[in-house]
Amino acid sequence: MELEKNIVSLKGVGETIAKKFKLLDVETVNDLINYFPRRYDDFSSLSPISALKPGQVSIKAKITSAKGRYVRRGMHITEAIASDESGSVRLVWFNQPYRVESLKSHQEYFISGNFELSYQRFAVMNPSVELASDFPLNAARIVPVYRETKGLKSAAIRKIIASARNIIENLEETLPDQIIAENNLLDRSEAIMAMHFPKNMGRMEAAKKRLGFEEIFGLSLASLINKKQASAEKTHVIPFKEDLARQFVARLPFKLTDSQRKVVWQIYQDMQKDEPMNRLVEGDVGSGKTVVATMAALMAADHGYQAAFMAPTELLARQHADTLHSMLKSIGKEHEAILLIGSMKPAQKSAAHKQIKSGKAKFIIGTHALIAEKVDMHKLSLVIVDEQHRFGVEQRKKLQKKSGGTMPHVLTMTATPIPRTLALTLYGELDISIISEKPKGRLPVKTEIVSPNSRLQMYRKVDKEIAAGSQMFVVCPLIAESDMLQALSAERVYEGLAKSVFKHRRVGLLHGKMKADEKEKIMEQFVHKNLNILVSTTVVEVGVDVPNATIMLVEGAERFGLAQIHQLRGRVGRRGQQAYCYIVMSDSKAPSKRLKALENTTDGFKLAELDLEIRGPGAIYGRMQSGQLDLRVAKLTDVKLIESARNSAKDFIESKEQLANYPDLACQISNYRSITNLN
Ligand code: ADP
Ligand code: MG
Repeated sequence: MELEKNIVSLKGVGETIAKKFKLLDVETVNDLINYFPRRYDDFSSLSPISALKPGQVSIKAKITSAKGRYVRRGMHITEAIASDESGSVRLVWFNQPYRVESLKSHQEYFISGNFELSYQRFAVMNPSVELASDFPLNAARIVPVYRETKGLKSAAIRKIIASARNIIENLEETLPDQIIAENNLLDRSEAIMAMHFPKNMGRMEAAKKRLGFEEIFGLSLASLINKKQASAEKTHVIPFKEDLARQFVARLPFKLTDSQRKVVWQIYQDMQKDEPMNRLVEGDVGSGKTVVATMAALMAADHGYQAAFMAPTELLARQHADTLHSMLKSIGKEHEAILLIGSMKPAQKSAAHKQIKSGKAKFIIGTHALIAEKVDMHKLSLVIVDEQHRFGVEQRKKLQKKSGGTMPHVLTMTATPIPRTLALTLYGELDISIISEKPKGRLPVKTEIVSPNSRLQMYRKVDKEIAAGSQMFVVCPLIAESDMLQALSAERVYEGLAKSVFKHRRVGLLHGKMKADEKEKIMEQFVHKNLNILVSTTVVEVGVDVPNATIMLVEGAERFGLAQIHQLRGRVGRRGQQAYCYIVMSDSKAPSKRLKALENTTDGFKLAELDLEIRGPGAIYGRMQSGQLDLRVAKLTDVKLIESARNSAKDFIESKEQLANYPDLACQISNYRSITNLN
């Protein structure tokens, strides 16, 4: 098909240009026509020269004179006079000596540029000039501006896209007609035309709506199909035993919050069904997710099944094992819990394997290696994935194998708040529970933005806390890499603190490039109070409990997402003591509104929404997903669009429509299905 051909098949595209396009990830004709402008400059309205006003202007005029000269070494100015019936105006270009040659008198041109003061006189500065025609590209229209690369400027891209105009005008529709009609959308060909050649801004907006709708519709459809397929898998039914739950809750050293109760109840209902649970529990750091997960595992274990509890690190696995052990003790089940991690001695390991194989061990706590390693868990019915919100198709397939072809129930837990729009699209195939309240009596972390000038003062305050026995995390955005930002690197900060300000304290360093066992050792030292201060990158083990830490100091705060800082500060004051978070700016400018929000709100969702709005999904997913999730047009903050696309996708699934009748759509969706691989 024409669309799949390499762009060299287009007029004006040779190998050289094709290579440059490749740098922009454009290889096929299809890539090219979907290479949408970054922004638009509205030069669409022509004015008579006599009526020009400062700002972006377009005129239709002849060039009456043009000359170039060097004003200083290396600085060239071209000046020309353009005239129409109403008058004349000066045109000025800097460092474009070829202009003089290219301007012919007696020709009529479209000229677009900024009309502004230059050396006390008004002129059109650095204008685009193009022979007047019915179909101008670079002037006298809404001019699309593309992301450029060296040697491939927007003007050239415009020209090449124009040579594919014929193809765009004959594009086939990808969406079902009914959906187009119901949602009042432009058809595909119209929309892509309007992206590259908008007649007016309204048309361009309509095009964005159509294309954004298509992306979200596809994503939603993909996640709904995934969900449907996943729910058809065979699973273990785990009936609810009320007595057991009551007994367990009664013996806890605290009263469950209403949120925790509600979520546990949702989980129990899921596990009673004959389709595998796939639920995500979201709750701020400290909201008490562990006990919720333990209660889920308890129910499975009591029916003779096994539950695997997977933590992101060995240290955290060990902490979980201790926690579970003490919670289960109250009902005499502590011997059913077992830890299995890589660093255990071979003898311990083989003992653990034996207990798992015999079925004596029902609560199996470890890291993600649990599903990779050769662990024989034939009665596995529940998998708990802690501190991760992505657990994809691949991992689930592995689990299925581990439990003899039956799909275990999966419960993932995360402290990352996921805005509603993301929940509907990317996470559409998960059921989500939210633990919305923290246990009573928790003090909010006192949060303060600190300008570099007040750094010493802050250190003095902090040192008093440390003297009183508290511990402090210092989190830096970098390890060491960039020269320019060395001041923000964990290594540099560590040296600064350890050798001067806090030389009377024990300071440790932890970063992602260290070996896993080194990291664990340092972390352990910190947990056991052998260090007062831990300087680290964000590898600070998620969820690790350092009960005695009350201070979180974040360096280079502008570089972090708000939700990320929010999670960091959730790691201090875990015993309910007053805790502090210092957000240190890298310069003394006034802090942004964005950062200010951290001082004023403790609502993780609000912060995540702000992140999404200002920084896009990457801020929430980190590196993991934003790259793959190549939404070209749709904004993940556009709730209205997302809801209507999502509803259309639902209707489509419920109707008798066959996806196979829409081959292009089907192809898109199979791509999306691997992205939203959360089923
Ligand atoms: P997270 O959601 O970050 O995983 P944890 O499960 O580690 O939180 O719980 C944090 C602390 O709160 C633990 O010490 C836990 O025992 C305690 N906790 C959990 N639920 C409650 C509750 N309802 N009331 C009081 N303390 C609770
Ligand atoms: Mg936790």
